[in-house]
Parts: sequence; structure tokens; C-alpha cells
Amino acid sequence: MNYKDSFREYLGKHGLKVTQQREVILDEFLAAGSHLSTEELYRAIREKNPHIGYATVHRTLKLLAESGLAAPRHFGDGHTRYECSSEEQHHDHLICTICGAIVEFENPGIERLQELVAAKHGFVIEQHRLEIYGRCAACLAGKGK
Ligand SMILES: [Zn+2]
Ligand SMILES: [Zn+2]
Ligand SMILES: [Zn+2]
Repeated sequence: MNYKDSFREYLGKHGLKVTQQREVILDEFLAAGSHLSTEELYRAIREKNPHIGYATVHRTLKLLAESGLAAPRHFGDGHTRYECSSEEQHHDHLICTICGAIVEFENPGIERLQELVAAKHGFVIEQHRLEIYGRCAACLAGKGK
């Protein structure tokens, strides 16, 4: 099942209508890439769809998060950012505390170590988040935003 079908199913289950606006917002969310704040997604949508309001974008993102299709992330700048969530796309993040750049990485060694740590404590991991904060290469070189 694809994202759209899953979202439709979620809406149906909760007695919510599949509106054209919700579909447009989902399309833009999927097209726009990762780590979008509500403001950023709203700005991207507004260009082509001036009739879609901020509140609708906000509510739809919340629905996407509740349905498990979008994962909310908090990287310490006070904004909630959303990214598509799916198991195959697991990745962790490096976040620049100066310019806010977000770098995604996946490191099998780190993933394995987390499993080992958990197992040592009798834990079974359901999910995890690894966020590393620091300065990105551009900021270190004095070329950050
Ligand atoms: Zn990870
Ligand atoms: Zn930076
Ligand atoms: Zn990410």
C-alpha cells in the first residue's frame, strides 16, 4: 500500500473526509523532501495553491503524524519538523547548532552497537532516534548561512 492509500484509509477509519486539499498537502509533503516545518511546507504549497490556509496545512501534518505516515522531529530550534516515516528509510541525524543544517546518515555499525547495548540491559528496541549536535563543515569554515 502506498502513502496515499494509507492516508485515505486512515482518514476513512476516523470518519474524516478525503479532501482535495488534504491530497494536495500530502503530495507536496512527499515531494518537498525531509525535515519540513509547518511554515516551510505551507510556503511551498502556497505558491501553487493560494487557497490552502496555514491552519489546514497544520492540521493535515498532525493527521499525517497521528497516522504514522509522518514522523515529527524536534531538533532544538523550537520548530516541529516532519519527515516521511518508513522502516526501510531509517536514518539518524547530524544537526548544526549554528545554521540548522540537517545531515542524514545511516551507519550499520552504530545500529548494531545500539542493539548490543539494549540486549545487555535486557531491552528489545522498538525504535530509536540518534541526534548529534554540533557545527557543520560550512560553519566551521565560516561559510555557514
Ligand atoms: Zn539509527
Ligand atoms: Zn552549519
Ligand atoms: Zn531525516
